[in-house]
Amino acid sequence: MTMRLSKRLERIPPYLFVEVDRKIAEKKAAGVDVISFGVGDPDIPTPESIVETLIDKSGNPEHHRYPSYFGLDEFRGAASRWVEQRFGVRLDPDREVLPLIGSKEGIAHLALALLDPGDLALVPEPSYPVYEMGTILAGAEPYFMPLKRENGFLPDLSAVPEEVAERAKVLWLNYPNNPTGAVAEGPLFAEAIEFAKKHDIVLAHDNAYSEITFDGFVAPSLLEFKGAVDVGIEFHSLSKSFNMTGWRIGFACGNPQVLEALGTVKTNIDSGIFNPIQLAGVTALEKEAGSAARMRDTYQSRRDYLVDEFSGLGWEITPPGGSIYVWMPVPPGFDSVGFSTHVLDRTGIFFTPGNAYGPSGEGYVRISLSVPTGRMEEAVSRLKEAFRS
Ligand SMILES: *Cc1c(COP(=O)(O)O)cnc(C)c1O
Repeated sequence: MTMRLSKRLERIPPYLFVEVDRKIAEKKAAGVDVISFGVGDPDIPTPESIVETLIDKSGNPEHHRYPSYFGLDEFRGAASRWVEQRFGVRLDPDREVLPLIGSKEGIAHLALALLDPGDLALVPEPSYPVYEMGTILAGAEPYFMPLKRENGFLPDLSAVPEEVAERAKVLWLNYPNNPTGAVAEGPLFAEAIEFAKKHDIVLAHDNAYSEITFDGFVAPSLLEFKGAVDVGIEFHSLSKSFNMTGWRIGFACGNPQVLEALGTVKTNIDSGIFNPIQLAGVTALEKEAGSAARMRDTYQSRRDYLVDEFSGLGWEITPPGGSIYVWMPVPPGFDSVGFSTHVLDRTGIFFTPGNAYGPSGEGYVRISLSVPTGRMEEAVSRLKEAFRS
């Protein structure tokens, strides 16, 4: 018997990394020592002080009951102080900060707070898949804004047709960008705020990689720009900055009306974050800026190493300005999947085909920097063996 599932699920393509994982599993089953540059998931452990806070606080029975829907005052306070110190933006911790079970949860749920069937969401592509999937799960339609190399992988808002802008209710941005590694400076944010105001659209910026930028570039917050809080919210994640992907903690901040709407969705779906995890998040935000800085240095040296070695193979590669990814054009004569498969078959090394993140990703592969340095060196030596002409 075939179960009758929802129509909305039929519109969801299979999760990207399911296919990826299956392919890699096949190789492994055949005895290949696969080195995957596929998933962006920090390989270095969470800083010790954060782990210690969790252990210490989880013994307290007060924390064994349901947490508050809107998070602990301590976490909201620490998040607002972190935003103020890091970006110079003052937020009301009660109305302008909302804790999340990882930023992915908030990104997906924001669609339910803003979109009805028939509405449009302006979604960059290639991109982190959740902006599109959240839109589809809400019954709405994504309108894709291609990110092109000649525009520095920034969207061209002036290319969005007037009637599309009128139907759209949310505009997604993400800088430092996954998967292209691009960073954005002031003009994009200022333009996006103006665009959002003009068309009465919520501007949602995903700043998951704010702490991972290179060559001295410091990523801004959307909220630093004039008028941003009138139209926008920003998503922050502790996952990449503090090596906490498994912990599931982040927060949204900015426009209080939008946060209240997101909070209403969440109140009816989840019941908050385990308090000791929030308190561990406080430790991260208050005490671990130094380890975020060390992570940035680690990724920068891995980036420099790969860019250097891959250039030596004749592969054309531009160093990313931020994020934990190198976005590399495939060599002439290949498409994304063709090149990825070729490299996997010849060397047991996996690069994610760029078109997995959207049609404009065709012609690229995404190479994650969250691979231990020793494994990276092993990969480089295999690649040299196979591809040095
Ligand atoms: C990793 C990632 C996130 C998700 O972070 P969580 O807080 O772990 O849910 C969000 N956005 C982008 C672009 C990411 O790459």
